[in-house]
Amino acid sequence: MTAKILDGAKIRDAMFAELKDEVAILSSAGIRPGLAAVLVGEDAASQLYVKSKIAACEQLGMASGLITPAAGATTAELLAVVEDLNRDNDTDGILVQLPLPAQVDTKRILEAVDPAKDVDGFHPVNLGRLVSGRPGLVACTPAGCMEILRRNDIQIESANAVVLGRSDIVGKPMALLLMHANATVTICHSKTRNLADVVRRADIVVAAMGKAGFVQANWIRPGATVIDVGTNRVTDIGEAERLFANFPARLEKFAAKGNALVGDVHPDAVNVAGALTPVPGGVGPMTIAMLMSNTVKAARMRRAKAVPRTISAGGASGSGAR
Ligand code: NAP
Repeated sequence: MTAKILDGAKIRDAMFAELKDEVAILSSAGIRPGLAAVLVGEDAASQLYVKSKIAACEQLGMASGLITPAAGATTAELLAVVEDLNRDNDTDGILVQLPLPAQVDTKRILEAVDPAKDVDGFHPVNLGRLVSGRPGLVACTPAGCMEILRRNDIQIESANAVVLGRSDIVGKPMALLLMHANATVTICHSKTRNLADVVRRADIVVAAMGKAGFVQANWIRPGATVIDVGTNRVTDIGEAERLFANFPARLEKFAAKGNALVGDVHPDAVNVAGALTPVPGGVGPMTIAMLMSNTVKAARMRRAKAVPRTISAGGASGSGAR
């Protein structure tokens, strides 16, 4: 059995097309959704992430801004930057690119962001809303995983879902989202006993541990759905040989590049699962799609509740509710 590949890039493209229309409707009503990114210092990976987020804003017709405090910025200076953005009516979403330098109190900065503009969904107010099932802004990666399941018609209600990992940004919100969608959820972590047996009971496995190829193919119940959140850069040839023994093309690519991106689930799982997100190209592209979606949602919730969602042949129409 070869799993159906759950293509995140394809869903991202579909979502971008939908969002572009919604941005056009909002802009024509005088409300152009805008995202402000705060990038502290000159970390190359962070610069690349922020660049791609700003490029996505441009692609969708959204406004974007980039604030670049120096690497030595203090907590007080960054709090002032966030306060300015909280006050700016044209800024709908505030993205503080992590990690922040060691001298900065990251929690204080994230908690200073206005919850209505917290498009990363990290603020305790938004986490609280998620716990109690009230509308709010949800962390992008787990929200993206749900979108993958829904847009592929994967049955969530009554499914046994196992989430591997309990971080604040992936595992915990993921488990809550699955629970609210009526799955029966088990959350696993580094102290879980008999992990393989727990995973074998799952109809849906979400792996978010940060351990390359850790979940073995024989842990997966045949036909189960696997959402692999892990993004691990493998550079060791021995590890690559273990992971790609049955994938000569990937091994060849590894040899040419000297590294490969691997999920938390062993690539052999593709021969057991019913459906599976590839790494790369599965969950990764969805994170940025959900960030854009959250920014549009934040604009709508804060200053465009009355703007209709669609334009009918005779003019504007739609419920305005989501
Ligand atoms: P994290 O904060 O390091 O959390 C890892 C979780 O995995 C922890 O809860 C940990 O348990 C658990 N864990 C570690 N080893 C385990 C083991 N042997 N057995 C069972 N559980 C174990 O990581 P994260 O931020 O949630 O990210 C997880 C992965 O997702 C990383 O690879 C990250 O790069 C990736 N990620 C990808 C995207 C994307 O857009 N594709 C976005 C975010 C994250 P304890 O709590 O007991 O320590």
